[in-house]
Amino acid sequence: MESMRGLKRTHGCGTLSRNEVGSEVVVMGWVDSRRDHGGLIFVDLRDRSGIVQVVFSPDNKTAFTKAENLRNEYVVAVAGTVRVRPEGTENEKLKTGDIEVVAREARILNRARTPVFYIEDGIEVDENLRLRYRYLDLRRPEMQRALELRHRAAKLIRDFLDSRGFWEIETPVLTRSTPEGARDFLVPSRLNPGKFYALPQSPQLFKQLLMVSGVERYFQIVRCFRDEDLRADRQPEFTQVDLEMSYVESDDVMALVEELLAVVCREVNGLEIATPFPRITYDEAMRRFGTDKPDLRYGMELRDVTDVAAGCEFKVFKVAVAAGGQVRGIRVPGCADYSRKELDDLTKFAVRHGARGLAYFLYTDEGLKSPITKFFTTAELDTLINRLEAAPGDLLLFVADAPDVVAAALSALRRELGERLGLIDRSRFEFVWVHQFPLLEYDHEEKRFVAVHHPFTAPVEEDVERLRSEPEKVRARAYDLVLNGVEIGGGSIRIHRRDVQELLFGVIGLAPGEAREKFGFLLDAFEYGTPPHGGFAIGFDRLVMLLAGKRTIRDVMAFPKTQSGTDLLTEAPGAVAPEQLAEVGVRVLDRKNRERS
Ligand code: ASP
Repeated sequence: MESMRGLKRTHGCGTLSRNEVGSEVVVMGWVDSRRDHGGLIFVDLRDRSGIVQVVFSPDNKTAFTKAENLRNEYVVAVAGTVRVRPEGTENEKLKTGDIEVVAREARILNRARTPVFYIEDGIEVDENLRLRYRYLDLRRPEMQRALELRHRAAKLIRDFLDSRGFWEIETPVLTRSTPEGARDFLVPSRLNPGKFYALPQSPQLFKQLLMVSGVERYFQIVRCFRDEDLRADRQPEFTQVDLEMSYVESDDVMALVEELLAVVCREVNGLEIATPFPRITYDEAMRRFGTDKPDLRYGMELRDVTDVAAGCEFKVFKVAVAAGGQVRGIRVPGCADYSRKELDDLTKFAVRHGARGLAYFLYTDEGLKSPITKFFTTAELDTLINRLEAAPGDLLLFVADAPDVVAAALSALRRELGERLGLIDRSRFEFVWVHQFPLLEYDHEEKRFVAVHHPFTAPVEEDVERLRSEPEKVRARAYDLVLNGVEIGGGSIRIHRRDVQELLFGVIGLAPGEAREKFGFLLDAFEYGTPPHGGFAIGFDRLVMLLAGKRTIRDVMAFPKTQSGTDLLTEAPGAVAPEQLAEVGVRVLDRKNRERS
């Protein structure tokens, strides 16, 4: 192995062009590939900026011999001269494809074992292998671009918020529980045996305290921790662009977030995003799309046919309606030729998403066809067609059940079929605000009301009185932002008065003592002149995922965890020595005891 002493890197491999022809350059990077060709050796050298071809000629014996020994992923330094490639040997696929570096001197700075997968884009290997060897995975150009894009977006956000008078302020990581609705990660305190810190689910309480402190405009690109079951777009630790503002109404916060995202989309992706973003109420989102995260890039909206169902002779429909349920449907364009098997598969899909079954009609030239057609009058069938605005060739799907079951099953079907039928235009970025959420929802398991967002969200002013009488009807001053069917952020105007905050704690079943124990510091602060305030948090990983055109947030995080919350690279979480546990006063129960307790 050799040292780089005396050689100074002059250029990134991918930055060389015809401008450097004739110059003496020094490049350093990994061997991407080596080819022996009729006496010449060609090495593609790769660094963060791209790839350049280096040529070794036998005329230069020392360098040539070294090139003979090069293997993929060896780290080398090359000093040489840039020249235009001989005619006919250009490589259009490479940005540097019309030039090459003729090596004068080469040094092997480090050898490498054969990598466990190819260092190139679009590899098809088990993701666990990529996570185990993340440092190799991150060397792949598409991952490098994702990291760069993430950096670029963060920088733009910082610059934008700075220009609007926001200060970035760090808040503690070792703290108390913040109720965002997930489980806390706990950290035992050695200095206070038997006591635990909670990792923040968000900086919610601190950013509100910063408003009481007179900061007026706060932001932070901050790690948050939530111990919940993981899905494609969830990780136990994730990053938010968290912000809070004093003396604002919902519209002010929403306008600022729109402007911020327009800047990021423009600068990162060259996308012109029209502002203001459309807004729909929570009720409308549930009615039209069956979800509060609607994807507006395609149609197939849900239509209600409960009235028809109530009067028809089809028992499943009638019974569902009689039990207080609904019947709703979607029109699947051009799928009237679906086979029995395809329909069975759709039924299974709907069942997996909570439905008890799926009713279908194939709209052929002879009208609606289905085993259940006989239970409907012609007028009823016509109403179904009209209500769904169906045309011959379409497939009509219906679910009958309680409203939330119908919504969940149909929105899942809509998404699945939208994908499958290619109805989604992937080049579009459709932002939509969902607002006027209910403030509270009844948790049947816990038998109490819980906050839909978090318990610091303010009720709509006219609804405050209802908090005592009909809490389920109180609307929240909250707004979620959805991009292409993905929730990328949420926020609200906050409660800033102690009496209202205490009233709300009471409604969600927090006894005064408990409220004081958990949030006494916030309630106290509210007595010292708290300005009205509100804020927002953007899920930064999800935003970057969408900007980078990736399907999972793992592809835009340097070191993500698996679905079971493990880090395959460092093998965290790991066991700790008994002495360490003793020091923090913790004993680990075996599984049997844990289940019993
Ligand atoms: N703290 C909230 C969250 O993490 C965002 C906010 O209300 O500002 O979802």
